[in-house]
Amino acid sequence: MEEFRVCLNCEYQKGFQVSFRKVKNRARIVLICPKCGQSYDIGWATTTIKTFRHDQGLTY
Ligand SMILES: [Zn+2]
Repeated sequence: MEEFRVCLNCEYQKGFQVSFRKVKNRARIVLICPKCGQSYDIGWATTTIKTFRHDQGLTY
């Protein structure tokens, strides 16, 4: 697969939103379809995210 952009559940073709899920000492990076809400864990994880502190930035 060269690109993962199309939702397997509803066939939405414009990509995904991102979410983070804490698992042990890592944060899993999860893709969520903006149309149907189906989530996909494609194996991405990071240890650089220690907390889910969220300072609000600019609104566009
Ligand atoms: Zn979908």
